[in-house]
Amino acid sequence: MNIIIHRGTHQIGGCVTEYEYDGWRLFVDYGEELPGGPTSGDLHIEGLTHGDISKSALLITHYHGDHIGSITKLPKELPIYIGKVGREIQLVLSDHLKSVDGVHQEMIERLQHANTFEAGNGFSFGPFSIMPITVDHSAFDAYAFKIEADGVSAFHTGDFRTHGFRSKKLPELIQKYVGAVDYVVCEGTNVARPDATNLTERELQQQFEEQFKANKSNVVYLSSTNIDRLFSLYHAALRAKCGFLVDAYQKRIMDIVTQQDPIWGKSSLYRYGEYEPKVLMYDNGEFLVTEEFKDFLNKLGYVLIARANPRFDHLIARLPGEKQKYLSMWGGYVEEGNEAYNKNLADSLGNDYKPMHTSGHSDMNSMREVFRLLHPKALIPIHTDAPEKFAELFSDEWSVILLNDGDSVTSS
Ligand SMILES: [Zn+2]
Ligand SMILES: [Zn+2]
Repeated sequence: MNIIIHRGTHQIGGCVTEYEYDGWRLFVDYGEELPGGPTSGDLHIEGLTHGDISKSALLITHYHGDHIGSITKLPKELPIYIGKVGREIQLVLSDHLKSVDGVHQEMIERLQHANTFEAGNGFSFGPFSIMPITVDHSAFDAYAFKIEADGVSAFHTGDFRTHGFRSKKLPELIQKYVGAVDYVVCEGTNVARPDATNLTERELQQQFEEQFKANKSNVVYLSSTNIDRLFSLYHAALRAKCGFLVDAYQKRIMDIVTQQDPIWGKSSLYRYGEYEPKVLMYDNGEFLVTEEFKDFLNKLGYVLIARANPRFDHLIARLPGEKQKYLSMWGGYVEEGNEAYNKNLADSLGNDYKPMHTSGHSDMNSMREVFRLLHPKALIPIHTDAPEKFAELFSDEWSVILLNDGDSVTSS
């Protein structure tokens, strides 16, 4: 089996990996490059973007744009495999965004023909056996894959972390479904960001709960598809006895998650409690704020899940109380001069806000524990802007293969 890293050896966004055996090609992820990093533009890959694709397929680890965002550029005949619930969430997201950006209509058409898989249900493609393993990440229904062909095995981690609500299951899943592998193709987002994981998701939730108890009027900016954070805030609001306000789009996403049945369905995190999130009323192009609604908010207090746009700005201005705003996503988005700077978000947020966030990616000590369970012959870092640092860290215990984009590793 050959492992080829087409992109991602020296950058975080837009990783594309190929597993090749006997003319069959299994690709993992085809997303967008992130602003601010190095970029290589459109890729030209034999058996994926052009040429004979009759023995090719693409696996998607999760719905973040840097993993799925460019699939609309691929030939329509290419089989795509994606997690069942992740596909549904992406469909709602694309439906919400299609009027702003036409590429989302293409995304919808693409995903309507995609194959879905579920955690722990292995499947095959040509000579490859594939086992999808659920991982905890800031995207819901995110996967790692065990990929095997010709007696060679690799564990492709995708994006994952070990400090989330669901992370404790990973060692057990690795033991049950993966075992020892020859290679780990591993994300290394936080190699050079040791402070990104200071808090666990549960500690962050406790801090939010304290804030919601201390402040009556709360406005939180977070990614609409950061499901665990969203449900975490919902339950924190319930405990603080505050109203929890979302728009209809956000509620649709929450409903998909509460209605899913598989492996995480049993978790109380994804169930509605005493009352469901309250859906904002909408009329004539704007959110409706009636006297009755204001009375309700004055009495209970509230947590509003907001997005940076004029409609929400206008709503927030009409809501009662002294608002406490929170940024529950990466701070770079509101850092002037940062390439990922989002002016709308910075303007909506203003200067007086509390940053409250923890990373969707693993810290390096926890990663070491994961590697120890997998006993790999070698590690191949991707999704990182500091591969040398990754090698420095882990070469005491494992051989680390540093590649450039387009390089391959051959094993038989
Ligand atoms: Zn991700
Ligand atoms: Zn990513």
